[in-house]
Amino acid sequence: MDTQEPYLLTPGPITTSMRTKKAMLHDWGSWDDDFNEITAQVRERLLKAANAEETHVCVPVQGSGSFAVEATLGTLVPKEGKVLVLMNGAYGQRMGKTLDYMGRAFVALDKGDYEPPRGEEVEKILAEDPAITHVAVVYCETSSGILNPVQEIAEVVHAAGRSLIIDAMSAFGALPVDAQTLPFDALISAANKCFEGVPGFGYAIIKKPVLAASQGRAHSLCLDLYDQWVYMEKTGQWRFTPPTHVVAAFLEAMKEHEEEGGVQGRYQRYCRNRDRMVAGMRALGFKTLLEDQWLSPVITTFFSPEAEEFNFKTFYNLLKERNFIIYPGKLTEAESFRIGCIGQLHDEQIDQLIVAVQEVLEAMNITLKKTA
Ligand SMILES: *Cc1c(COP(=O)(O)O)cnc(C)c1O
Repeated sequence: MDTQEPYLLTPGPITTSMRTKKAMLHDWGSWDDDFNEITAQVRERLLKAANAEETHVCVPVQGSGSFAVEATLGTLVPKEGKVLVLMNGAYGQRMGKTLDYMGRAFVALDKGDYEPPRGEEVEKILAEDPAITHVAVVYCETSSGILNPVQEIAEVVHAAGRSLIIDAMSAFGALPVDAQTLPFDALISAANKCFEGVPGFGYAIIKKPVLAASQGRAHSLCLDLYDQWVYMEKTGQWRFTPPTHVVAAFLEAMKEHEEEGGVQGRYQRYCRNRDRMVAGMRALGFKTLLEDQWLSPVITTFFSPEAEEFNFKTFYNLLKERNFIIYPGKLTEAESFRIGCIGQLHDEQIDQLIVAVQEVLEAMNITLKKTA
């Protein structure tokens, strides 16, 4: 069964393990103790992965990752608050749009397609605008694959006495997050990213006193994380129907994550995937958008070849015939495509991918100029 399925080289949904898939072959009652126990374990394990058990709480919420982002912003930012949103791609921009929808004031530091926002410039903006109450940043901006310097940003936000909200969607589980050394008020992710679950819920890890002070702020009943938290603490249950199968699969995925060596183990495998994939693609003549220093072990953007014969849709379809699903690019200026390295991917699949890309180039009659 596994060999027939295409590999998803995308930033989520990703290729999950058979063990995770099998965990969904059972029906749970949403009020049942057995299911409540699964929820409790998931929340506990997520806090542990962020070294946040003593200081933060974990609140899951139904929906995709963006639902969790919207829920967190809406629950934590008061109506008279003002957010500095750091943007260098689609997900930073989406946070701005989300704040717009719910009528919360924000200013943007927009770095374009892929330049990283730096601590110094954030420090300057915060010093000049005392009305800013919160800063929102994307850890790994999945649109280019850039790894933003969150530690440096967290430190200046903390020093300026503001509240930091991190969209760590495609980072948490594979990139280091230590709540005791990375000062944040909230960190957001979802089931279908680096912990390798299936899509269906997101969650936020929020500093306990910060959430406790957030009653009545939310713009939406369904997305009120304060309410969800209070209800969950009291009853062990989700407020409204939970994605039971997804949560059960996620617990299994988290056990596998632990067996792989936790965040460190997963980080190493993803880095290895990236290095092997980037080396193979470069050997074929492809160029990465970013310099090595900024390449995340999550997803890499490649420039499309300049050859006239190149057409993304054809390239995509021919790779799909060979069982690999890649991802279109998201740059405004240059033609590009993306290849992810998260999910159940190992040396074997990366090597098969490089062979497949080479075959596809030949089939498309494209010869790339090899550099170095
Ligand atoms: C995946 C992702 C999201 C959430 O996207 P959804 O389509 O709502 O799941 C948000 N931010 C980042 C950085 C992501 O990679």
